[in-house]
Amino acid sequence: MFGKVYVNENRCIGCGFCMDQNPSLFRLGEWHSEYIGPEKAGPEEIALVRHAQALCPAKAIELLILYSDEQAYQIKPAEL
Ligand code: SF4
Repeated sequence: MFGKVYVNENRCIGCGFCMDQNPSLFRLGEWHSEYIGPEKAGPEEIALVRHAQALCPAKAIELLILYSDEQAYQIKPAEL
């Protein structure tokens, strides 16, 4: 199992919460946060990203869990 992480730049307001909590996983890009963690996030990174999802006021962090090449499950931030 591994995860793919994506910051929706149309939603991110650049508040910095995710970067403050996880500077090894997120950094500020030109206008919004960027995910800089491993391309295939492992269980530890997935747990940190899920925590960041809960903190994100703009619900901008998206996480796709891949169990295999055929099976995927998307953990979307709650709708606003
Ligand atoms: S917490 Fe959410 S809104 Fe704030 S910088 Fe991170 S992704 Fe953007």
